[in-house]
Amino acid sequence: MEKIKCLIIGAGPAGYTAAIYAARAEMKPVMYVGPQPGGQLMITNDVENFPGYPEGVMGPQMMEDIKKQAERFGTDVRYGTVTDIDVSERPFKVTIDAQTTVLAETAIIATGASAKWLGIESEQRLNGKGVSACAVCDGFFFRGQEVAIVGAGDTACEEAHYLSKLCKKVHMLVRRDEFRASKIMQARVQNTPNIEIHFNTEVDEVLGGEEVSGIRLKNNATGATSEISVTGLFIAIGHEPNTGFLKGKVDMDEQGYIITVPGTTTTNVPGLFASGDAQDKIYRQAVTAAGSGCMAALEAERFLASVEHAVGSEA
Ligand code: NDP
Repeated sequence: MEKIKCLIIGAGPAGYTAAIYAARAEMKPVMYVGPQPGGQLMITNDVENFPGYPEGVMGPQMMEDIKKQAERFGTDVRYGTVTDIDVSERPFKVTIDAQTTVLAETAIIATGASAKWLGIESEQRLNGKGVSACAVCDGFFFRGQEVAIVGAGDTACEEAHYLSKLCKKVHMLVRRDEFRASKIMQARVQNTPNIEIHFNTEVDEVLGGEEVSGIRLKNNATGATSEISVTGLFIAIGHEPNTGFLKGKVDMDEQGYIITVPGTTTTNVPGLFASGDAQDKIYRQAVTAAGSGCMAALEAERFLASVEHAVGSEA
């Protein structure tokens, strides 16, 4: 069975940064990219807050650059999703796509997070038929049309602004009477004439047979319902960590974020490290994910050195 010194699970900023450091430390990292290679930045438009890009950079371009950098130092980037990992003993037994098994002396979790959904039946039924969780991917299909977006965080503001450039009108549905987003992002949507903000408003039902034709809204303050005609509904209400395959194997909080020793990427399982959005529900930035990927690789290297030293001392 193939034995890997440093296995990296996931291919976002955390995973690729871990790979750059692990490869340069001659740990011969193997990365399994998972179902969304490149992570959330693949569905992001302009990244304006990553240091080193004074003019900003497109998310997919940044991921292409960082992938090349990881490969340049010898990272073995492989298609495939880790579906199971046995951490009861080292090396860990890791299953890829429920069929191939490899052994990993250390593993770095960098699986990130995925978009959340409202969880109503009509949203699911019309998913891909007007309902989307990615304005940057699907906004193009709604050029010149009237659409709505749910959410009040930075993502919702960013996507509402993006949609406002393509669409005739954007209804922004905010469930409370205030935004969660940063002041600068709030100002951006508030100052965009074709974005109408509906506070205290939730989606009661997505309307339409084969495709979205409108939304029934519910006012949280009064309980009153009303309808708007839109052809698209974008959901931008946050994310959840992609850690399902690790449930019961490593300590997590109630939302599924992996718990690490503060200031480190160390989990309760020796040799298993966690980086990026899979363990961070506070900062969730590309740059913080990259930073923790670096930490994970350095910690994996030190862990291996200490294990080898212990074995050497016994001999
Ligand atoms: P957030 O968790 O920050 O915001 C989620 C929003 O969705 C909240 O306003 C929340 O409402 C709302 N929401 C959640 N569930 C529902 C529901 N069922 N119905 C209606 N509304 C709902 O997620 P984001 O994805 O916006 O941001 C995540 C992180 O990424 C943040 O730290 C953010 O700052 C960062 N980010 C930064 C960007 C940048 O700097 N360029 C761009 C994008 C994201 P409520 O407020 O009532 O809880």
